[in-house]
Amino acid sequence: MTFKDLGLAAPILDALEGLGYSNPTPIQQQAIPILLKRKDLLGVAQTGTGKTAAFGIPILHHLYEAKKQNGTNGGHSNKRKIKALIVTPTRELAIQIGESITDYGKYTGIRNTVIFGGVKQGKQVNTLKNGVDILVATPGRLLDLMNQGFITLRDIEFAVLDEADQMLDMGFIHDIKKIIAKLPSQRQSLFFSATMPKDIVALSRKILGDFEQVSIQPEQATAEKVEQGVYFVSKKNKTKLLVHLLEEHPRDSVLVFSRTKHGANKIVKKLDQAGIRSAAIHGNKSQTARQKALGAFKEGKLKVLVATDIAARGIDVEELALVINFDLPNVSETYVHRIGRTGRASASGIALSFCDVEERAYLRDIEKLIKQEVPKMPEHPFTDSDEDAQEPAHQPRKPRNSNQSRNNNRNRNRNRNSNRSANSNNRNSRRRSGNKGSENRS
Ligand code: AMP
Repeated sequence: MTFKDLGLAAPILDALEGLGYSNPTPIQQQAIPILLKRKDLLGVAQTGTGKTAAFGIPILHHLYEAKKQNGTNGGHSNKRKIKALIVTPTRELAIQIGESITDYGKYTGIRNTVIFGGVKQGKQVNTLKNGVDILVATPGRLLDLMNQGFITLRDIEFAVLDEADQMLDMGFIHDIKKIIAKLPSQRQSLFFSATMPKDIVALSRKILGDFEQVSIQPEQATAEKVEQGVYFVSKKNKTKLLVHLLEEHPRDSVLVFSRTKHGANKIVKKLDQAGIRSAAIHGNKSQTARQKALGAFKEGKLKVLVATDIAARGIDVEELALVINFDLPNVSETYVHRIGRTGRASASGIALSFCDVEERAYLRDIEKLIKQEVPKMPEHPFTDSDEDAQEPAHQPRKPRNSNQSRNNNRNRNRNRNSNRSANSNNRNSRRRSGNKGSENRS
């Protein structure tokens, strides 16, 4: 299937050709026809699947066709009204969505803008005053500017709620409800979430009318390409092990995950003391600092980025060789999302995890979810506690240097069941862990 087969407007096809998109991704193949028919959509999918184009392209198509029919895009006397609203949890995602829509719509004359918190509102307000067709927003700033009278949702024809599960984790539920209440009842609604626990299903019902569903589970395919390994290491030796591994991979782009913002800062400081340059991105960092660090990392100028899960959601780096879980996540699905950051464009990636004695339960939950054992890494120079030695390495493997281990890993992955059933297992572990959402709002 090609984009042309989907019946999209010529300026959009031209833009996609210019971007080198030859074929629609699975979510685009499924979602675009539904959205072109103006049906509501529930998309179970996450960033990295081509989700932004899946919703962005049909919106651009409808707006472009309407503009063509009306023969105007709003001159001075006829200011553009916001006709499409995309709400997403973080600044990074908002910016990334805005950039993608600008790319896909660059020959359509459709204008978009992005608003988010953490920066002064003046520039955003001025852009809004000039009139935009599509607004990409984080919930807090959107409500704020609505309350100040700079934004009305009266003319919204297309409403997209993106990364809904993340939105709820970040405590945006009340903001979201307030936003939904202001939307006109006549609209096309799109709801995207990587996971579908009960509260998300309930929220989707509030937004969607008669809808169709599309489920894309990239985790399984992605995880198959990723070689995994776990090091048993005491909490106090994690930094030493990290330094050791980074020194072994001096030319690779490495994304290090920390469960907390404070932890991320501490890692950067310790790496700095060891002579390794890195930067942290998380909710407490200023917008400028986050964009600067992310930009340097994407360009390969900065080799090590330390991120919390929420901040990392918007990271789309093609040449990411290695993911290191400095802390194991207490929500097993997060592990799959994290390791899916590597092994994207390239044929394979490596994901290594540090597991201290308190994290053993998390590891067991993860292994249950992915239906495989994470290969135990061989002895490392920093095994100092009895606790580390308690669970000996079973058939130690070193993924990068051993072809044998690659084959073993692949065979095991091949036998794995679908992620869908794994997701239901995970709900139990999610309940067990509970203490989530430590990020700030954007
Ligand atoms: P997203 O899930 O929207 O964050 O997209 C992930 C990445 O895939 C982005 O870098 C997009 O530019 C890219 N992408 C989206 N659709 C296509 C496509 N049909 N062909 C090639 N790349 C794509």
